[in-house]
Amino acid sequence: YLSCDPYLRSRMSGNDEPSHVPDFVQGEVLTTLGVSKVVESGHQDYKPGDLVWGMTGCEEYTLITDLQSHFKINHPELPLSYYTGVLGMPGLTAYVGFFDVAKPKKGEYVFVSAASGAVGQLVGQLAKISGCYVVGSAGSDEKVNLLKTKFGFDDAFNYKKEQDLDATLKRCFPEGIDIYFENVGGAMLDAVLLNMRLHGRVSVCGLISQYNLEQSEGVRNLFCIITKRIRMEGFIVTDHYGSYRKFEEEMAGYLKEGKITYVEDVAEGIESFPTALIGLFYGRNIGKQLVVVARE
Ligand code: NDP
Repeated sequence: YLSCDPYLRSRMSGNDEPSHVPDFVQGEVLTTLGVSKVVESGHQDYKPGDLVWGMTGCEEYTLITDLQSHFKINHPELPLSYYTGVLGMPGLTAYVGFFDVAKPKKGEYVFVSAASGAVGQLVGQLAKISGCYVVGSAGSDEKVNLLKTKFGFDDAFNYKKEQDLDATLKRCFPEGIDIYFENVGGAMLDAVLLNMRLHGRVSVCGLISQYNLEQSEGVRNLFCIITKRIRMEGFIVTDHYGSYRKFEEEMAGYLKEGKITYVEDVAEGIESFPTALIGLFYGRNIGKQLVVVARE
């Protein structure tokens, strides 16, 4: 299984902006996170048949030499594709971005953007498990329905249909927002800043609305960070790979107990990778976007 993730866009930037991942190199095989089965190994810790997830080539067979950030799959009884999502990088992103960065408390008001996606659907469910009130935004009525009926969000709205995001957030959060899990940036961030509560936290996970712009939009309401004493903190999930095993056990437990559910958008065949990846930036994916290269 190959994973389609928004950060891959930054690997095609071709500009000089600092990035946490190296650019793709023309003529070389593209790489992405994936789930693989070992067919041959010259490494003593890996044998044919082992299942792993980590950085891999977008190809049917690939040679992996850098095993630094590869993990053996400890729960093959769960769907293997989950290791591109809920049990892999996006799952850990939701977990550390919510618990370690936002530091939720029971009863707090939580808002999640891109809420039906790979990361967002999990943040919402973790917030409910933590006893928070959670509202999500998404870009279609179908996704909004999923948030309310499948993922247990208390409320949700289609941001594309709202004329005035500030008014929408005031309607959803009459008492304001304690935690904003930021996936999109742009106009949404500006509206959220106006609605944050005193000592609120913004966990800055991603800014997908900005990734295809030649120049990022400015943020107008930054002054709210001072007046409301907001803590706004970005994070990169790979800094937290040391927590992966603890996370994997906890999340596998939630999945088995039915406390967390996960929706995937599965594209068939390696040739569908480019279309599936581009679809992320048009909101075509419903849930975690991944590509099946070969089934077991
Ligand atoms: P998703 O599965 O949520 O897919 C992307 C979604 O973003 C789309 O489905 C679409 O949903 C929404 N979107 C696309 N374009 C726009 C736009 N212009 N304005 C608003 N929304 C848009 O992706 P992930 O869950 O994998 O990633 C979510 C965010 O988390 C991204 O910003 C990503 O970069 C970030 N991330 C950060 C990590 C870190 O380490 N900091 C690690 C992993 C992810 P809709 O239809 O609702 O608009």
